[in-house]
Amino acid sequence: MTCKDIKTSIDSASRRDPVAPSVKSHLMECTDCSSYSDQTMGLIALLRAQPMVEVPSDFDFKLRARIARAKSEPESTSILGHLWAKTFSWGQTATAAAALGLVLTFVTYNYMHRS
Ligand SMILES: [Zn+2]
Repeated sequence: MTCKDIKTSIDSASRRDPVAPSVKSHLMECTDCSSYSDQTMGLIALLRAQPMVEVPSDFDFKLRARIARAKSEPESTSILGHLWAKTFSWGQTATAAAALGLVLTFVTYNYMHRS
């Protein structure tokens, strides 16, 4: 097994399916793979330590109601409005406008302070 194979089996290992003995013996000899294993296990431990997010008890009900409402709402009749709704949201438009403004400010500033 190459170091690449070892790292792949470290990545795919889990609690139920831990690394094979051959991988363990490689980790004893190879410092690179050993440190990779330590980093991966550290990351997994960090992720496991995160608190579980509790879903509100009425989440399922609210979600189903919202889906039903979205299904029953009439589709936009104008083609342009329909296209607009499918292409951009207002949030995306605002973000794009802000980014464009930032670029224009930067370009103008650089142009003014060129000489
Ligand atoms: Zn190795």
